[in-house]
Amino acid sequence: MKRIAVLLLAAALMLSAAGCGREKSASVQFFSMDTIMEITVYGKGAQKAADAARAEIESLDAMFSVSGTGSDIRKVNESGGGAVSEECALLVSRALELGADTGGAFDITLLPVIDAWGFHTDDPAVPDPAALADAMTRTGIGAVTVSGDMITFAKDGMGIDMGAVAKGYAAGKAAETLKKAGITSALITLGGNVRTVGAKPDGSRWRVAVQSPFDGDDYICVVSVEDCAVVTSGGYQRYFEQDGNTYHHIIDPETGYPADSGVVSATIVCGDDALADAFSTAVYVMGAERAQRLWREYDRSFDMIIVLRDGSVLVTEGIMPFVEAPGVAVTEIKR
Ligand code: AMP
Ligand code: MG
Repeated sequence: MKRIAVLLLAAALMLSAAGCGREKSASVQFFSMDTIMEITVYGKGAQKAADAARAEIESLDAMFSVSGTGSDIRKVNESGGGAVSEECALLVSRALELGADTGGAFDITLLPVIDAWGFHTDDPAVPDPAALADAMTRTGIGAVTVSGDMITFAKDGMGIDMGAVAKGYAAGKAAETLKKAGITSALITLGGNVRTVGAKPDGSRWRVAVQSPFDGDDYICVVSVEDCAVVTSGGYQRYFEQDGNTYHHIIDPETGYPADSGVVSATIVCGDDALADAFSTAVYVMGAERAQRLWREYDRSFDMIIVLRDGSVLVTEGIMPFVEAPGVAVTEIKR
């Protein structure tokens, strides 16, 4: 499976712009959640805070990983339900709600389908139609119940994959850890999940590059933000090729096949990290029309940068003034 190395372009761009001056800073790079991660922290106690944020992410990886021995999620999947930690139960419960909010486009119960494709192995392949159809019968967010710390599956052979929400959640928890340590300026880059804490040390906004879905070495736009998540989902991030076709890792729960909505990259900008991550995946699946309806009707505010197959870009009005996309056709989405 080709794994496009995670984009550190965003980080590079921002760091070059950040200019440390006399500010104390510390940076940690590590590998967790199948992703190259980098946390850069400014101010007093930067190193200690960065190390604590990294430890927070690693402990959440140990909780939410589908494959990690002893993870809460793996235990519950292998046992067909059972008790998990309180934090795990809370995020599963939230993920089910976010799934319902997206009309099922974001669906943590796709694990049997993802396994049929072999996406968690080094050797993914197009599944046999009968095997895929069988896997599809073992999904459905309505068939999972969370009660206290107990997770119950209504059907045999079900399983949960938190891969589309755990990184966002972890980035948010890492940001909280930094803030508790008194940090007011930091940048957390977990692959396509960027989390900014406060503004840059000089008080200006962070400039986050959104990778071009058409060229891994380039970015399609830059968005200037402070103290929020910027999460991107795209089929170009993980995929394999078979018989001349490309199959990527984001599944349409209605078909069991890689989503093909016309959206090639979906970025959510929002203060709520779990929402940003879940919705980036959902918008990629649901396509631009449904995504705009969700954006207009949803009771919580978030912003979107949607790249369509033809290279044009849609940007919601809240961040329109903060998006730079030279040479790109940008259309503003208004209320
Ligand atoms: P992300 O990179 O946040 O879009 O998450 C993609 C990952 O989430 C995939 O690698 C799968 O493990 C899982 N996944 C795939 N399709 C979906 C979906 N429709 N809803 C929720 N999780 C999904
Ligand atoms: Mg996601």
